[in-house]
Amino acid sequence: MKLKKDLLPAHQRKAKPADESALGFGQIFCDHMFLMDYDPEHGWHDPRIAPYGPLSLDPAALVLHYGQEVFEGLKAYRGVDGGIYMFRPLANIERMNRSNRRLCIPELPAAECLEHLFELVKTEHEWVPTLEGTSLYVRPTVIATEACLGVKVSKKYLYFVIMGPVGAYYPEGFNPVKIYVEEKYVRASAGGVGEAKTMGNYAASLLAAEEAHAKGFTQVLWLDACDRKSIEEVGTMNMFFVIAGEIITSPLTGSILPGVTRDSVLTLCRHWGLKVSERKVTIDEVIAAQKDGVLEEAFGTGTAAVISPVGSIHYRGKDYRVADGQTGKLSNRLYDEMTGIQLGKRPDPFGWVVKVK
Ligand SMILES: *Cc1c(COP(=O)(O)O)cnc(C)c1O
Repeated sequence: MKLKKDLLPAHQRKAKPADESALGFGQIFCDHMFLMDYDPEHGWHDPRIAPYGPLSLDPAALVLHYGQEVFEGLKAYRGVDGGIYMFRPLANIERMNRSNRRLCIPELPAAECLEHLFELVKTEHEWVPTLEGTSLYVRPTVIATEACLGVKVSKKYLYFVIMGPVGAYYPEGFNPVKIYVEEKYVRASAGGVGEAKTMGNYAASLLAAEEAHAKGFTQVLWLDACDRKSIEEVGTMNMFFVIAGEIITSPLTGSILPGVTRDSVLTLCRHWGLKVSERKVTIDEVIAAQKDGVLEEAFGTGTAAVISPVGSIHYRGKDYRVADGQTGKLSNRLYDEMTGIQLGKRPDPFGWVVKVK
């Protein structure tokens, strides 16, 4: 498949953000995006890089009514040598194809998708910010575009990738967040679409997040849909606890998103010889550990924030402080190691980093 490029002349391109310390997250977009279409006759076809701009969709497009969509989130980094790097990009494409299978969307050709991503990042290389803690966020998305008001699998799709420079995901930056343990609403249940990165999961989470924000909390900690006991994950992050020297994260039972950062953290902790368990952990166990003084740390993991330390957990009207409201030792070590590998400051023993330019 030949990649077409329709690039804006220099004078029509946007000015790059002047202050990289005030980037925020997801509000600035590059000059160009990637697009590719699918129909049963041609399969995935017509890959192209074109100016960033509105999509033209039939108002009956299936995605707008029944949510047949998947997306991904990954980053390109400015390395310490000035080069541009991506972190485990194939893992994101493979996960997108698992999400595609769950949503009855035809799989994307992984090797070509990776090449297209690199080409897009190379095209927009000037948009990769340089300040420490910043990066270029990359958002691949597939939507069902067939016009039909009936619940069915679409025959047509659009795959597109948009990008933009980002700073810290949370206004707190790398500082402990306050999380609210949600007992009324649930995010997902086993057998549903919780393990797919698909829009409905996020729409379903908004009301709980709004109510938690109104009470002063940054994030919602989700419990399992059956008993509201086992910890699932947080917002757009997987959750880890350190209890009496054991690093614990929930197993991938179908209702939580299999994070690339989660997998990387597990790999690093095992590599360091630490005690790591993928096992069910209940909110009762966490609260009991806090009361006994053995809840050493809690943190979330995700591409956007990398490691997000938790400073307090709010459960049934009470605040339980974690690590004295500070960033824990392991959280710090993981953050330094992960960002060190991503920026080429530290050795990359697992071959996670790909040089794009
Ligand atoms: C994307 C996401 C994560 C984190 O995945 P990473 O691959 O580490 O970025 C965790 N939970 C949810 C619900 C997500 O959408």
